[in-house]
Amino acid sequence: MPRPILRLALPSPLRRLFDYLPPAGVPDAGLRPGVRLRVPFGRREIIGILVEVVSRSEVPEAKLKPALELLDARSPLPSPLFKLCLWTAQYYQHSLGDTFSWALPVLLRQGDPAEARQERFWHAANGARPEDPRLSRAPRQRDALKTISQHPHGVAHSLLSQLQLSKDSLDLLLQKGLLRVETRRRHQAQRHQGSWLLQPELPLNQQQRAAFEAIRAGLDGFQTYLLAGVTGSGKTEVYLQLIHQVLEAGKQALVLIPEINLGPQTLARFEKRFNARIALLHSSVNDRERLDAWIAARDGEADIIIGTRSALFTPMKNPGLIILDEEHDASYKQQEGLRYHARDLAVVRARQENIPILLGSATPSLESLHNAHSGRYGLLKLTERAGGAQPPRFLRLDIKSRPLDSGISGPLHQAMAQTLAAGQQVLVFLNRRGFAPSLLCHDCGWIGQCPRCDARMTLHQRHNELRCHHCGHAERPPHSCPDCAKLDLRPVGAGTERAEERLITLFPDYPVLRIDRDSTSRKGSMAHLLTTINRGEPCLLVGTQMLAKGHHFPRVTLVAILDADGGLFSADFRASERMAQLIVQVAGRAGRAEEPGKVIIQTHLADHPLLVQLTEQGYFAFAEQALSERRAAGLPPFSHLALLRAEATKPGQAEDFLDEACSQAEQLMEQLGLTGIELLGPVPAPMERRAGRFRAQLLLQANARGPLHNLMNAWLPQVETLPGSRSVRWSLDVDPIDL
Ligand code: ADP
Ligand code: ZN
Ligand code: ZN
Repeated sequence: MPRPILRLALPSPLRRLFDYLPPAGVPDAGLRPGVRLRVPFGRREIIGILVEVVSRSEVPEAKLKPALELLDARSPLPSPLFKLCLWTAQYYQHSLGDTFSWALPVLLRQGDPAEARQERFWHAANGARPEDPRLSRAPRQRDALKTISQHPHGVAHSLLSQLQLSKDSLDLLLQKGLLRVETRRRHQAQRHQGSWLLQPELPLNQQQRAAFEAIRAGLDGFQTYLLAGVTGSGKTEVYLQLIHQVLEAGKQALVLIPEINLGPQTLARFEKRFNARIALLHSSVNDRERLDAWIAARDGEADIIIGTRSALFTPMKNPGLIILDEEHDASYKQQEGLRYHARDLAVVRARQENIPILLGSATPSLESLHNAHSGRYGLLKLTERAGGAQPPRFLRLDIKSRPLDSGISGPLHQAMAQTLAAGQQVLVFLNRRGFAPSLLCHDCGWIGQCPRCDARMTLHQRHNELRCHHCGHAERPPHSCPDCAKLDLRPVGAGTERAEERLITLFPDYPVLRIDRDSTSRKGSMAHLLTTINRGEPCLLVGTQMLAKGHHFPRVTLVAILDADGGLFSADFRASERMAQLIVQVAGRAGRAEEPGKVIIQTHLADHPLLVQLTEQGYFAFAEQALSERRAAGLPPFSHLALLRAEATKPGQAEDFLDEACSQAEQLMEQLGLTGIELLGPVPAPMERRAGRFRAQLLLQANARGPLHNLMNAWLPQVETLPGSRSVRWSLDVDPIDL
């Protein structure tokens, strides 16, 4: 009998598997796909995941090395998760080993046990009493028994020293039969007996009920639903009531949210509603907690799993429903390494697990709307705010040839003054941090450029620094112009710091609160700002897109968008979609039943058709218009893209590499008879130099996914062998969201 050959996925960027012989003494039956093995790799030992067992290798038998150790008695990954990883690696054209590295908890990749941690607990034996005559001359044992008796659930072994209990005394008590030891799961989350609900559910309004009933009727199979509900329309209430149904059916729910929404409020809302075991997975959870939560979910010991992008890869024993909130949010797309889109993968996963998935947003992505139009997704709409609040009114304020004072026009200034005088709050939105986006010499035109990027540096006045927002480079601003030595250096344009400073002088009687990454980086500072805002006194909030998400500001009745033009001018075809989403999301923060909100948008393009649609007809009319423009231009979702990016330290190197890759692709298309694919480029990246590297890109655009993937399947292994592939940093982005 020839020995079986193990094909392993190793943490390597190479898109291939690696062959090994079984470790000594391990029976073949233990070698199931998914188990981890420690193997020699060059001079190192690394951990790989078994993908398949075959009978023959292309490597000569004499060169095959045996694996060193089998780490698992059973596969730590349930089969659906294993399949999802295979699908992901294939679709995103990524190394399978590296895909596992992104998808699995770090400690699992490092070889930690993949089973729940067990711990010994010391209990008083039935009927054991400290007054027992056998303890009359053993005061330490008597005290120890007394202490242990006070803990009805037992004392964890790891807490003995903290409670000043000596192991020797406990062993003696154990021998006397006065103690017993139990081994059980550590930190097991508990739920109380009885109802899943800790608070009553709100009676749903008609639209909520229609959405709820539609999804409830389909809870036992795969279907994708798009819940398009304006901000405050009660989407979360619909989620909660569906989750309740899932829990009643003995199943688990996976809830994905954008990083920024994971405030304590989100979790609090779930904890207030449910008597359930909730596992939380986001970026500030440590490795140990992440693995514990992952195992708990896999073993059915967590009822609700809430997390950000990567929580998509959490295994579930009894999956019942996936909810993905704010489905348009760009943070669902990973922009490094494995460039997956959690929304798209979540739909794939739901199909594989045969469960429904609910995508929610007030401003759905054009992709999802297109899928809803074509009948692939069920569309459910909530058009009214649950509390009965009025939708905000929009006003386009043409600022052509109007003087701006730190970004603020005269009419806007007046509107702000009126709002404050009426005892209400104002929200000023500006998507630029810092004081000014550039520093300019008024005499010679010198501009503060980042030495490492093709980008201007932002002036941060508070810290007296010029900072590059692309690579993090920072330096002191010069006192005089580095080119002409004159002293007339002026900040150009306005960021949040400058708007804040100006508002303080314009409205000295009102507090001005700035909310952006700089002002909220200290722990607790955001909570402090929110407390002030929620007190409800008139004030001005100024901030970036952090203001657009997650919070409700009921006392805000005026929202000012200082500059909407970036989204209308940009070369990126998605810029207008993003701008519209941002405007609607910011606007949605404002106003309550008694006080409808007003949104003033400053723009030089007051007649731009997309902006007119958005402000007069609403987001869905905008989306129709934007979709028809995309269709006419053959852009996604009416075509499919993949982007090969490269960067190198020398100019021209990245383009040379992409040129060769491009010729390979052209040859393959001819050989394989593939049509309907266009190769665009290579061209320099929109910002050619970044962090000292020269960047270029090659875009593939296809009418259909099939041929595009056939091409990539054959092409990527060839690209890997190009001589340039070692000196150039390169990556492939399937369905890129920024070009
Ligand atoms: P969304 O998730 O769409 O922004 P929420 O679910 O957070 O909306 O609801 C917004 C507000 O309306 C919340 O304060 C919520 O408690 C309230 N609400 C939601 N549904 C109802 C309902 N059916 N009846 C009364 N209030 C509701
Ligand atoms: Zn100068
Ligand atoms: Zn830079």
